[in-house]
Amino acid sequence: MTPVQVRVGALSDVGKVRERNEDAHFAGSHVFAVADGLGGHRAGEVASDLALGSVRALDELPPRTAATKVAEAVRKGNRAVHDRAQKDDSLRGMGTTMTAVVISGDTAHIAHVGDSRCYLVRGDAITQLSNDHTLVARMVSEGRLTPEQAEAHPQRSVLTRALGADREVEVDETQITLMDGDRLLLCSDGLTGMLADDEIRRLVSSGSDLEEICQTLVDEANDRGGLDNITVVLVDVSGAPGATPAQAPRAHRPRSRRIPLRLFVWLAILAVLITGAYFGVRSWADRSYYIGLDHGHVAIYRGLPVTVGGIHLSHVEQPTDIKSSDVMAYFLPRLREGIRGTSLASARAKLTDIPLTTDAQKAHATPTPSPSASANTSPKASAT
Ligand code: CA
Repeated sequence: MTPVQVRVGALSDVGKVRERNEDAHFAGSHVFAVADGLGGHRAGEVASDLALGSVRALDELPPRTAATKVAEAVRKGNRAVHDRAQKDDSLRGMGTTMTAVVISGDTAHIAHVGDSRCYLVRGDAITQLSNDHTLVARMVSEGRLTPEQAEAHPQRSVLTRALGADREVEVDETQITLMDGDRLLLCSDGLTGMLADDEIRRLVSSGSDLEEICQTLVDEANDRGGLDNITVVLVDVSGAPGATPAQAPRAHRPRSRRIPLRLFVWLAILAVLITGAYFGVRSWADRSYYIGLDHGHVAIYRGLPVTVGGIHLSHVEQPTDIKSSDVMAYFLPRLREGIRGTSLASARAKLTDIPLTTDAQKAHATPTPSPSASANTSPKASAT
């Protein structure tokens, strides 16, 4: 993660119609945010400023730490707005959007709720990195509206998600790897309601003076009517490793918690070792035989006389009709342990080594495998 250099420009304007500016924004050293407040009287201003407080505090933390806390800061802002609205009747129903970015190393971490936007302008392409939480965006995703119809829809600013409405809020999290020359634009809907994406792209990449570009964006929105408050925060990235602005950005969509590469490699090695060990033991087990006890009878097993993690590494290959009560008592512990044979034939040969009681010797003049025996069948030896 090579740290990138960032430059930032920002501007907020009341527009031509509204009496107050309910937008709030923050441009720190590695934290950037736009909030668009909603509510009567002064409530919208209170909401956007209150929500911004916890995001602003991230700029005091080192970038790496701030990056891990950006979504939590937005949730904290949500609770602050919600709790305040519960306490104060004049603020009841207030809410705000929040689009916050933390840049750490060469990665931008984005946390977002509402219809303010985060755009990436890379080369000739503009990509909206945030999803609009609006009714019309939902209808577009459900195929009930075309994007063109959505732009002209009278209810296009009706939000499906905002800070302050409930004590808990779902926060979208996105990360992108930055490249040299990238520009990130955070803006409220006072800009995007007036300008098309392609016009925004053209203006954002129109020069190197970021304050001037912000002024141009605001002026353009006002020229088209300035129906709402207009806020823009423009971040210019340099020094990122990628010098070719050709590829489209890959946004890692919500909550992809990436496993660090080193951990991943170790886990992969461990998995290979475990798999290898399992098959190694399995194949060793398959070539091994032993004499043991099975339900009160001597039997030849294929495998190893052990159980690993509840899995038996052996099965009865050949039952016999020698009962454990036929075997001299002192020898039984050895049978319980298992007497190894290197092959089925050697295991069979070792059957004759089992010391039998006198009575049993009479019955089994020569201990042999039961003629009815077969592999993997009932362990019960046939008593003929
Ligand atoms: Ca607005």
